[in-house]
Amino acid sequence: MFFTFDNLLKKIKIGEKNYDADKITAAYDLASSAHEGQTRSSGEPYISHPVAVALILLEMCMDTDTITASLLHDVVEDTNITLDVIRKKFGSDVAALVDGVTKIGLVPLNTSKEEQNAENIRKILIAMSRDIRVIIIKLADRLHNMRTLGFTDPEKQRRVSLETMSFYAPIAHRLGIADMKEEMEDISLSYLDAYAFKEIEEKLKIHKRERDEFIEKIKERIIDRVGDMNPPPVIEGRVKGIYSIYKKVYINGKDFEEIYDVYAVRIIVRSDIDCYNVLGIIHDMFTPIPYRFKDYIATPKANRYQSLHTTVLGKEGVPFEVQIRTVEMHNTAQHGVAAHWRYKAGLSLKRNTGERFDWIRRILEQQQESDDVEQIAESIKVDLAPDEVHVFTPQGDVKSLPEGSTVIDFAYSIHTHIGNKMTGARVSGRMVKFDYVLKTGDIVEIMTTNSADYGPNPDWLNIAKSGEAKAKIRNWLKRERRDENIEAGRAFVESELKRDNIEVKEEELAALAEKHRFNSLEDFYAAIGYGGVTATKVSFWIKEDFVRKDETAGQTDPDAYIAEIRKKKQSRGVIVEGIEDCLVKFAQCCNPLPGDEIIGFVTRGYGVSVHKKSCVNVQGRLGKPDSGEERWLETKWADGSNILYSATLDIIATERKGLIADITVAIASNNISISGLVGRVLKNGNASVLVTIEIAGVEQLNGIISKLNRVQGVISTERAGK
Ligand code: MN
Repeated sequence: MFFTFDNLLKKIKIGEKNYDADKITAAYDLASSAHEGQTRSSGEPYISHPVAVALILLEMCMDTDTITASLLHDVVEDTNITLDVIRKKFGSDVAALVDGVTKIGLVPLNTSKEEQNAENIRKILIAMSRDIRVIIIKLADRLHNMRTLGFTDPEKQRRVSLETMSFYAPIAHRLGIADMKEEMEDISLSYLDAYAFKEIEEKLKIHKRERDEFIEKIKERIIDRVGDMNPPPVIEGRVKGIYSIYKKVYINGKDFEEIYDVYAVRIIVRSDIDCYNVLGIIHDMFTPIPYRFKDYIATPKANRYQSLHTTVLGKEGVPFEVQIRTVEMHNTAQHGVAAHWRYKAGLSLKRNTGERFDWIRRILEQQQESDDVEQIAESIKVDLAPDEVHVFTPQGDVKSLPEGSTVIDFAYSIHTHIGNKMTGARVSGRMVKFDYVLKTGDIVEIMTTNSADYGPNPDWLNIAKSGEAKAKIRNWLKRERRDENIEAGRAFVESELKRDNIEVKEEELAALAEKHRFNSLEDFYAAIGYGGVTATKVSFWIKEDFVRKDETAGQTDPDAYIAEIRKKKQSRGVIVEGIEDCLVKFAQCCNPLPGDEIIGFVTRGYGVSVHKKSCVNVQGRLGKPDSGEERWLETKWADGSNILYSATLDIIATERKGLIADITVAIASNNISISGLVGRVLKNGNASVLVTIEIAGVEQLNGIISKLNRVQGVISTERAGK
């Protein structure tokens, strides 16, 4: 007979923790009537499964909502009860947990390739990372299914075991839930390599009496030495999980007798200091084996595991491992993240907080160990950047997109053709609009048409978020709408010319197009039409070229030119020797900004070149006899100018995914536009990013520099060309 709900309820009531027994009972009532008539492979009524899962979670001291959700975890998928019903009866927290567990079930897993394992683990974690309790329920669900796997057919036993070994046990390990991980591994192994499993089991059995005696003796000897500590340490002896022995014997090819840590003694003390004291005593009593001592108290494992480990040689010449830890460390070691609920009863955690997501992300990022299970999950640590959303295709592939991405971005991330022919989208089964903003965990399906003349319209450019999608949309518009683009581009250029009162010939426009590397004037117009070159840029080019050409023609004599430019109206926000609106150019070597002290230098051909006074080129030439001092002009900034200037920043940062995006966001969020950006990886592994921005002055620039210095990973930000 299976464990009944009445037994569960009894346990709930006698336990130390305050549970809402009415809520849990209501969940049981709903689940048991919903699953009415359904049976498990074992022949037991289906409800025995959710009750067993709830029991596992109760033993982990999980909270009321988790227990409630676990009783309901299969109803949405397997019965006609909807999520809305659960939300109304049990609140949105329970509904979100049930929804999360149901969705994980929908993520298709692929056990065929090693790399895909890591990818799948990542998927599961991502899907569940909104609320860690979802993972814990799913693990309990899987653990019970493993315990009852004997009732299913061999094909399923193998498949489910492989899945558990590949994904669920590593996740349990990752979250530090050691006892769950070990049980999952051992059951999986018993199906995946039944022969080896039995052999190890037999060997352990043969030596069971010896082993028990051995451990008892060790325990006694240790108690003799430390028993007068207050409170006396708790000493446990144990044999390691079958799978961990299996790995050493069958995978690493060691002799069964050679495995040091088949035997393990655990000493649980009160404080950190006691841990080190006991370690000293142990090393005094037994001979420590070199290189086997590990201090996980000073440097905890990524999953927060802490303990001192040492392997020593007993009198009998048998090596054994000693783990020394405090009660708190022990709790974390056994229950991992679940320990949180065990001792912090009543602590309510907010759902969907960034904090919770971050916590998992940090775990994933900090993976540095490399035992076998670790290796599988090693590559999980990839791009779980918080400013990305991770969504799934109906086939279960993960797509990572910038936060704020829409279904259009998703469609283009799958394939250009899918994007171009997209007529609609479904998210987790529901139709959504084109501007639907994707959330992590969404399962997205794109509807397309085969109609030849269907394609994106220019509005999509405003809806798409990712550069990739925008580029592809522009590309399509460019190719498929060339005639319209040319017309639009031509109209734009004509209106610009008209507005600025500039008259140019067709050849001059063609020359302009050629100068900016367009094959023809038509290509130039087309590019304007599809957005390949921005309107602002084009109007800038037009003004720069045509006006300047007109005004600088024939200027060779500096003196004559000074006289000339003093008459001209070409303000760039500086006053040259008391004259405003003078044709100037800012020196490339130092790129002065308002706020800098400046000086002008008359150049042949293009007016006054403005340098910073501190510029090396000025310092080197100013005052030298052959420099012609009359060529240097007092120059200062005009007040109240709202002109923007170019400045280039040299950013050095540790290379990471999302760095460039973070830098551009930091700049763009101040409404400063970026006119150029070049990134490269330096020899020492750091990244160098040169970014040119349009800026009003030194003050604003300093603001941006300090903002950039706060971007994660940025080592220094300096203005280029000091
Ligand atoms: Mn289930």
